[in-house]
Amino acid sequence: MSYRKIGIMGGTFDPIHNAHLQLAQEALESQDLNQVIFIPAGQPNFKQNRNILEKDTRKLLVELGIQDNDQFIIDDFELRKDSLSYTIDTIEYLQRKYPKDELFFILGEDALLELPKWHRSSELKNKISFLVAKRSLDGFSKDLDRLRKLGYNIIEFPFYYLEISSTMIREKRRNNREIRYLVPQKVGEFIKERKLYR
Ligand code: ATP
Ligand code: MG
Repeated sequence: MSYRKIGIMGGTFDPIHNAHLQLAQEALESQDLNQVIFIPAGQPNFKQNRNILEKDTRKLLVELGIQDNDQFIIDDFELRKDSLSYTIDTIEYLQRKYPKDELFFILGEDALLELPKWHRSSELKNKISFLVAKRSLDGFSKDLDRLRKLGYNIIEFPFYYLEISSTMIREKRRNNREIRYLVPQKVGEFIKERKLYR
């Protein structure tokens, strides 16, 4: 096997939930990807103002969430670093690791619209294509066209919008509400056992 198509799914995953997994699965099937690599963020750049679950716990939650899918793997590149993690560094690392393969960055529209703020964002457009899914019931934002004009390769793929977020999961836990149908079973059990987000 020489040439493969690999999806990259970055996120804080605090915690991983069913919309993350469905997003990865839809990207995989609609674009004929061979594999999706989940990359939990170390110290997210835009979320420094709230307490994020520690790295090892978020990593374990991702592992539990993807363990029954052979085409989903995790890479802890960003977690291994003490410094801030930038997407550009991760992409360069993955291109070195998989030099023959084509990489696609999978993300929700909310994350894509932040792209101009990303570190060395203009270099990213020559390195990778973006597979973007809607994150609301509205149509795609006109801002995507603006990004396209700047030279980003943005591919919209069909995704039946699921109104699930990690914020929602954390809120439900705080309010003593059930999360079992919003996260994979093993993830839900682990969160309850460890009394996370209470
Ligand atoms: P938080 O509420 O803490 O911001 P989140 O649910 O947005 O968490 P992230 O880890 O921030 O999860 O997101 C990782 C990636 O998954 C981003 O690209 C985000 O756009 C995407 N994503 C998360 N939930 C959804 C969803 N329901 N629909 C589409 N994309 C999603
Ligand atoms: Mg988010």
